[in-house]
Amino acid sequence: MTRWLAEYAWLPDHAEPTPDVLIETDGGRITGVTPLTAGSHPPAGVEVLGDAVRLPGLTLPGLANAHSHAFHRALRGRTHTGRGDFWSWRDQMYAVAARLDPDSYLALARAVYAEMALAGITCVGEFHYLHHGPDGTPYDDPNTMGAALVEAAAHAGVRLTLLDTAYLTSTVDGEPLVGPQRRFGDGDALRWAERVDAMPSENAHARLGAAIHSVRAVPAEQLATVAGWADRRGVPLHVHLSEQPAENDACRAVHGRTPAGLLADHGVLGPHTTAVHTTHPTGGDLTLLGDHRTGVCLCPTTERDLADGIGPARRMADVGIPLSLGSDSHAVVDLFEEARAVELDERLRTRRRGHFTAVDLLTAATVTGHAALGWGDAGRLSVGDRADLVTVRLDSARTAGVPPVGVFFAATAADVAHVVVDGRVVVRDGRHVDVDVPTELRDAIAAVTT
Ligand SMILES: [Zn+2]
Repeated sequence: MTRWLAEYAWLPDHAEPTPDVLIETDGGRITGVTPLTAGSHPPAGVEVLGDAVRLPGLTLPGLANAHSHAFHRALRGRTHTGRGDFWSWRDQMYAVAARLDPDSYLALARAVYAEMALAGITCVGEFHYLHHGPDGTPYDDPNTMGAALVEAAAHAGVRLTLLDTAYLTSTVDGEPLVGPQRRFGDGDALRWAERVDAMPSENAHARLGAAIHSVRAVPAEQLATVAGWADRRGVPLHVHLSEQPAENDACRAVHGRTPAGLLADHGVLGPHTTAVHTTHPTGGDLTLLGDHRTGVCLCPTTERDLADGIGPARRMADVGIPLSLGSDSHAVVDLFEEARAVELDERLRTRRRGHFTAVDLLTAATVTGHAALGWGDAGRLSVGDRADLVTVRLDSARTAGVPPVGVFFAATAADVAHVVVDGRVVVRDGRHVDVDVPTELRDAIAAVTT
């Protein structure tokens, strides 16, 4: 059993952090959460706390990054010359995709997931579609690229939900995959399911989920095959939704429905489904998602980077849509930045403040994200939950003088000092215990860009 003494800890159902909390963990679970005498330093009872590990700063539950494409990290800072939009950025992304093999994918993902651990992310949802060799030929083990991601997460010390993605066509009207896209494709949804069924699913740190790349990439008549597979397995199902107005226009032209409407028609929406982005919902789309208790994963720093627009987060929450957060293209890996952007982007749009509380942002970054990835026992500092602890410094240049309740409006990923995942220390004093993150990122990115 390990005892941790948090200077402050943000406990469930508390509007603000509590001082001096003793957290006990055993076997990867939280076994005790005890607020000590408020405000005393050292706290009363300190004589029995001799073996407790002190955690100066604010301890949060584990942060969940609900939407990642690990290899996009190689593009950070490389796409800002000239003008362009999402579609021209996508061409650059495809060039990196074309160069990856199982070894370089493992090296890159290991470094990226370790960067996430440094940022306090204890669980990541990898929206994985880079399945096959560059010309579309499967590897000897057709799940070898997914296996590289599972291994990468183990090295980095974080949990993973591998959202194995069906990506079958290049347009809403069913044009075949071309060029670098060929390695994404399994032919049809049945063959996708056959491949994924062969994937080992017994890992303590990794679970399997499903994804539909978008209404552009899975023909309407095959959507139910993927949704049915996820339903039978009882695993999360994610889908990019209305990321671009062009996707809405094409879907209406071909199917006479919005993308959300098409997904609803084919049984894709439901409480285990997460729609990623939903930046451009139209008509009754949000009500439809809310009625199905479908979540939305917002990725504000990626929408910002790609000039995609602002998702209507407040309207989503108002119709009962659970909100989670993702760093998606990894232009930034910082869930504090993602979380505050949900509020700050609404301020820019409405020219008013106060749309989301600090607890709303904490909830999106922790418990809702974990639930969207199929880990219903994580994201809260409560007895029985997974022993994930993320301690944020309150004495850095950014956070000094900030009240603990204000951390989501002040801290950055660089202020994360200690990270414990399933009871194991992964980050200590701001350093990853197993991975030299800057060096490995530099080398892994050089290998696929130069
Ligand atoms: Zn994405």
